[in-house]
Amino acid sequence: MIVDSLRWLGRAARNIPLPLALHWESCDDDSYGGLYLKPSPKTYLVDGAEVECARGIIIVNAISSPAGREVANALAHEFRHHMQQLSGTPCPGQSFRQCLNREGTYERAIVRFFASNPLELDALVFSHRVAPSDSSANWMDLLQGARR
Ligand SMILES: [Zn+2]
Repeated sequence: MIVDSLRWLGRAARNIPLPLALHWESCDDDSYGGLYLKPSPKTYLVDGAEVECARGIIIVNAISSPAGREVANALAHEFRHHMQQLSGTPCPGQSFRQCLNREGTYERAIVRFFASNPLELDALVFSHRVAPSDSSANWMDLLQGARR
């Protein structure tokens, strides 16, 4: 299912070519809320449909983000990676799963994931500003707690 446009992002999205935004209905992995694929000549299979990646693709995991605010926050987070990509900053490669395997607990993995990667931290701060959710508030709290 195609998510309605990202124009709700307002000024942040002005003059930026919008990526395709999709709900990944059949995703059974609840370990993340969203995924960003940078613009490329590739095509991907999403819910059985072939999707071109020429404009870049944001995929939101519908299972882990059932609430509207969480979906909006995940869209904003992944859109920030799109902005980073278009400004020439490469996308981060470190996954939350890797942090979880290394740290053992969800809370410690969240702190490592955002604190060790400036691009992820930037995406968190951006998404929490334009589309705050319970998750983004929790992650900001965990990061502030780790700094104390
Ligand atoms: Zn991210």
